[in-house]
Amino acid sequence: MRLNWGMIGGGEGSQIGPAHRIAAGMDGLFTFAAGALDADPARGKDFAQRLGVSADRAYGNWQDMLEGERNRPDRIELVTVATPNATHYPIAKAFLQAGFHVLVEKPMTVTVEDAEDLVRTAKAANRICAVNYGYTGYALVRHMKAMVARGDIGKVRLVVAEFAHGHHADAADADNPRVRWRYDPAQAGVSAQFADCGIHALHMASFVIGQEADKLQADFASCLPVRTLEDDAMVNLRFSGGTVGRLWTSSVAIGRQHGLTLQVFGETGGLRWAQEQPNQLHYMPLGKRLQIIERGEGNLSPEADRASRVTVGHAEGMPEAFANIYRDLADTITAQNAGKTPDPAANLFPKAEDGLRSIAAIHAAVTSAAAGGAWTDARPPMFR
Ligand code: NAD
Repeated sequence: MRLNWGMIGGGEGSQIGPAHRIAAGMDGLFTFAAGALDADPARGKDFAQRLGVSADRAYGNWQDMLEGERNRPDRIELVTVATPNATHYPIAKAFLQAGFHVLVEKPMTVTVEDAEDLVRTAKAANRICAVNYGYTGYALVRHMKAMVARGDIGKVRLVVAEFAHGHHADAADADNPRVRWRYDPAQAGVSAQFADCGIHALHMASFVIGQEADKLQADFASCLPVRTLEDDAMVNLRFSGGTVGRLWTSSVAIGRQHGLTLQVFGETGGLRWAQEQPNQLHYMPLGKRLQIIERGEGNLSPEADRASRVTVGHAEGMPEAFANIYRDLADTITAQNAGKTPDPAANLFPKAEDGLRSIAAIHAAVTSAAAGGAWTDARPPMFR
């Protein structure tokens, strides 16, 4: 049975709203039933209705949506929060407490305290609070995780993660309001580029190697002097299983586009995946020739086979990766509603605990950078 789904933020012209709507609709598991899509109530109501939401469920703001949905017999089961960062916490908390499942955009919150509170709130309400590290939905990222877990590259020694683009490199454009807010502490919080992009790379590294960041040292730079917050960061890490981590994130790397890549080096092999060529995974077994694994080849791993949507050789990309997060959520919620144990294969979606670890890492990196790169505990207080 289809689940009713709602969305807050992601209005007309937003960056990430369309990817959510495509992803949620891809498998016929969700009906887009309600929305408070825009900071401007009239624009939000109008856009929701043009997308097929009925007039009484096209809301002007999230508070009206919460009240409107709360007591409906056909109320939404899952709400996606795709608003600017500082609003994630109050919206996610209110919907969790009212018994809705939530998928919140990253960064989950701005402060570690709020992130810990969301973890506790979700647990107390027995609801899912997922975080949209949607790039872990790519079939070959899930395959990398499976290869590492089954020992294909031996014990992991080193992970190198990058999320470096060049879209904020133009000094003449630094004052553009759409760029400037990201580097304004009042609007962006304590970190700009690491919080915006670096945490995707960090979460993906943790996801693939199955280890959490224990401690880190960070060097932050504002390559454009006009910026208070960093537009480039280099972060060294030590993970819980002893793996060494190197992470570079930048918004001034001219010529780089999305720039998310992951390399994992073990005792008996290496792996390399780049988001801009997501259908190929480079696998180098020690002492042998480079192999290029194609998404959609049969019998790669149960994780990759489940996440692969079109046959080998056809391009598959970012909305499909996000759709894998939505399908995991639909399968898990449907099982819970039926009183059944959810399929472990659907348990790969990022959780509130992952969101919390990222926020703790952001604050640790800011502390480290301010202390000249001192090694700093990266674990959230509640997991120490
Ligand atoms: P955006 O500025 O392009 O769009 C934000 C949308 O939210 C707009 O439609 C705006 O009108 C609406 N909005 C703002 N305040 C609102 C409120 N109180 N109630 C309802 N709607 C409201 O921003 P974006 O780039 O789409 O980013 C949104 C969120 O998604 C951010 O947290 C960002 O970090 C995250 N994001 C995630 C990814 C990813 O890959 N997971 C990619 C891009 C952005």
